[in-house]
Amino acid sequence: MKKLILGSGLIGLLAREILGPDWTLIPFGRSRFYSYNPPLADNFIVYSDAFSDIETLKNKSVIFHKRGFSLAGGLIFNNMPLVTTPWAAKLGMDPNKAQLSTLRTEFPAFDISCASLYKTLLRKYDVEIREGLKRGAVKKINKTDVVTDIGSVPYDKVVSTIPLEALALYAGLAGPRRPRQVYYYLIASPSVDLEGCTQVLVCDEELGFFKVNHMGGNLHMFFCHQKFPDPELFFSAFINQFQIVNATSIPDALPLGDSQTTVDQCKAMNITPVGDGAEDDYFMDVSSSINYLRKLRHG
Ligand SMILES: Cc1cc2nc3c(=O)[nH]c(=O)nc-3n(C[C@H](O)[C@H](O)[C@H](O)COP(=O)(O)OP(=O)(O)OC[C@H]3O[C@@H](n4cnc5c(N)ncnc54)[C@H](O)[C@@H]3O)c2cc1C
Repeated sequence: MKKLILGSGLIGLLAREILGPDWTLIPFGRSRFYSYNPPLADNFIVYSDAFSDIETLKNKSVIFHKRGFSLAGGLIFNNMPLVTTPWAAKLGMDPNKAQLSTLRTEFPAFDISCASLYKTLLRKYDVEIREGLKRGAVKKINKTDVVTDIGSVPYDKVVSTIPLEALALYAGLAGPRRPRQVYYYLIASPSVDLEGCTQVLVCDEELGFFKVNHMGGNLHMFFCHQKFPDPELFFSAFINQFQIVNATSIPDALPLGDSQTTVDQCKAMNITPVGDGAEDDYFMDVSSSINYLRKLRHG
């Protein structure tokens, strides 16, 4: 049986690690999030005892993270609907989504960052990635083959880790169409105080950012769902002393979860999307994706 993994980001390489050597990597370029320093997404993997069978996570110790919700100028350490409902609504997600209650305010994580795990996996699967690149660039996906510019690779089963929008284009399916660009601002400031949190989810609707991550020292990454015409002016309204160290954006980065039909259409083609972008599901974080891959491995 010919089994393929689409994508060579973090989830694609984890799929290879978990599903095993009878799965063939079809690379699509590097991770949009973990190829940079600092990385452009959360850099932790929520801990699970069950993952001790994964070579690259085995024997890692556990560290604890704290997450707060910011509302009306205060930090709240409780994932009650008072905070999760406006936070979800602000991003255009269904505020009744059951997974909102999984946004715990304290949680254990593996003592390895996503970025360094990605580096390790890139080294480990270097030869397979190079072999995959020799098959050519993917042009189209039909019910039996992944067609490249120099040939085609037949398949019985596919695990896709590329963004759902991209898969929909290759496979000729209707994909999600809502704007979902994320703008990132790395800000150095002695006056941002997240009260010991790794991450704060920002609930106030009028603020154009939905998340702030502490990156170490006085560095903070602001995740924004709006573009600011004058970012200096915008941030000066609530931070006293700061410097914008870097800024960038990723189109289609934010999975808003309105694409179940496309996911179902993929499954009908024996293609199983795995990951937040691949499934268009914000809650498929790295840890949940690992869980899903382990279930796929066990049939
Ligand atoms: C704003 C945000 C918040 C997040 N919050 C959390 C969180 O709280 N906790 C957590 O654990 N995780 C979180 N994540 C999710 C986590 O970061 C992702 O699961 C992880 O980044 C997926 O990594 P990846 O490298 O496989 O993805 P990708 O970079 O999407 O890589 C997948 C593959 O697709 C390819 N690719 C990308 N774009 C295209 C395209 N247009 N066409 C073809 N191929 C393409 C890439 O090159 C790569 O080969 C968040 C992500 C974002 C964006």
